[in-house]
Amino acid sequence: MLMNVRTSAFRLLCAGLVSTSLLTIQPTAGWSQVDSAGWHAKRAGLVAPLDIPLVLAGNFGELRADHFHTGLDFKTQGREGVPVIAASDGVISRVKVSPFGYGRAVYLNSPEGWTTVYAHLQKFTPEVENWVRERQYQKQRFALDESPKPDFVFSQGDTIGWSGNSGGSAGPHLHFEVRETATQRPVNPLFWGFDVSDAIPPELSGLWVLPINGGRVNGGTRPRLISPETPSVRIEGEARFAVQALDRLDAAKNRCGVYRAELRINDSLEHAWELDKLDFAVNRDMNALAYYPEWERTGDQVYRMHRLPGSRLPVHDAGMVSAASKRNDSLPVQVAVQLWDVHGNTTAHAWEVQWTERTEVQSDKEARFSFDEVHQLTLDGATVRIPKNTFYDDFHFPFTWEEERNEWEIGSSDMPAARAVEVALPTAIPETMRAGVLAIRRGRDGDIEGTYAGSWQEDGRFAFSTKTCGRYALERDSVPPTIRPHKRHRTSAQDTLVVRNFGELRFSLADDLSGIETWEGRLDGAWILMRWDPKRERIWYDLSDQRHAEGIDQELVIQARDEVGNQVVWRGTVRFE
Ligand SMILES: [Zn+2]
Repeated sequence: MLMNVRTSAFRLLCAGLVSTSLLTIQPTAGWSQVDSAGWHAKRAGLVAPLDIPLVLAGNFGELRADHFHTGLDFKTQGREGVPVIAASDGVISRVKVSPFGYGRAVYLNSPEGWTTVYAHLQKFTPEVENWVRERQYQKQRFALDESPKPDFVFSQGDTIGWSGNSGGSAGPHLHFEVRETATQRPVNPLFWGFDVSDAIPPELSGLWVLPINGGRVNGGTRPRLISPETPSVRIEGEARFAVQALDRLDAAKNRCGVYRAELRINDSLEHAWELDKLDFAVNRDMNALAYYPEWERTGDQVYRMHRLPGSRLPVHDAGMVSAASKRNDSLPVQVAVQLWDVHGNTTAHAWEVQWTERTEVQSDKEARFSFDEVHQLTLDGATVRIPKNTFYDDFHFPFTWEEERNEWEIGSSDMPAARAVEVALPTAIPETMRAGVLAIRRGRDGDIEGTYAGSWQEDGRFAFSTKTCGRYALERDSVPPTIRPHKRHRTSAQDTLVVRNFGELRFSLADDLSGIETWEGRLDGAWILMRWDPKRERIWYDLSDQRHAEGIDQELVIQARDEVGNQVVWRGTVRFE
């Protein structure tokens, strides 16, 4: 959405920014404008989900691994258990418990058509907590994702849960989302004007020039980062642009994402995107807004200022095409970038570009595959099937066998994929040794970065699918998970445990290569809920479940299996005192 509110306050705002040194051009009439109240008219109807000073550790639209961040991460003063507040009146529409992702989360539907999401919680309210526990025991399952009946009704300002660190959370915080209930599309929650102080404009590290079709930048064919201090740039032939940028807010050092960016060439708007609203169905296409080779290598936020042809993202302003066109006149061209955060703070910079036509235009089209067709590649008995629209643009596909390292190169790690490619690899592994075989992916430093279970084809090849290109090998995982009772429960006898002055029965549970697939606990034969926190490598039974007896020896069996079927069983007795 392009805002066109012109007020003198905007000019004041920009004039104030000259002192931040990056602003070397003044906004012209063509620049999109913001009003003094901020970027968007403040929406009403939601209150902040925490009653402590609001400090963001992450914002909406920030680049994350294979997705945009779809909410706000509020810091919770380094602790769990901070009351979380219902942002509106509403009814709980969904409750989720998962060892990964959102962990323990509730979704609240407001009468106005907004769903607010509160994730990584430590605890739900007692009524919801009891309902969840009953469902878990009914289904004999830890993970849950359901619409509760009966209705749990909340008023705006009620405590809806307590903040935590559950699921894929790397430290105590609240992940808060606002979605349109009808579409479940996430919207930038800062439109509601929560009291997050932010006077710092986005930081622009530079302009990436990405030569294509034989183009050059400063005489070379490789992409170049041009800093704001660099006075001029030379481009021959065709090129695309990207910006390296981030945003910070007043109260924390955390790196956040930019809200809106525009690219102008000689004052004409070539491209713009704005992260006001996202779409879970295509959220992985974040990799097509990021300049992925740099993002993947360094983790720096580099945003493309063009739409890759295969990108389905809803964030680009309508009607704009890529800036790949050649400029062949002899006058310098002004390439200008302007960035905004959601509070209306802005940064702008322009570079002078000597942009000439390249006389011998080399197109590398012949060597490339069309992104919107199916491709099947074969090499030494291995095949890779690439469905259409797997990649976002026409692509080269390195596919080699490296005998010394016993590795296959299946595409290059700087190629982001929207879909999985299907791989079948020949192997010398004898049939009797096939149990436990999986594909592994190695990172640049040789560490294993991913494991992929697969299946054996009739022709003896190992088949698997993956959405990540890179270096692959086959390995065998024949080691079962390890399981150990917490030291507080141990007695002199290895198979006898006592639980005393401790609210839970806890085991450590870990697996080296393929990872845990299933786990289960039984007490005197009856299923008990063993919660699982993979990041802490821990499973536990909470005594408040009251599925145990007190003061007597009970038979305890804990089983776990990894992704390739290796199994471990712990068997003994436990006494709860
Ligand atoms: Zn988050």
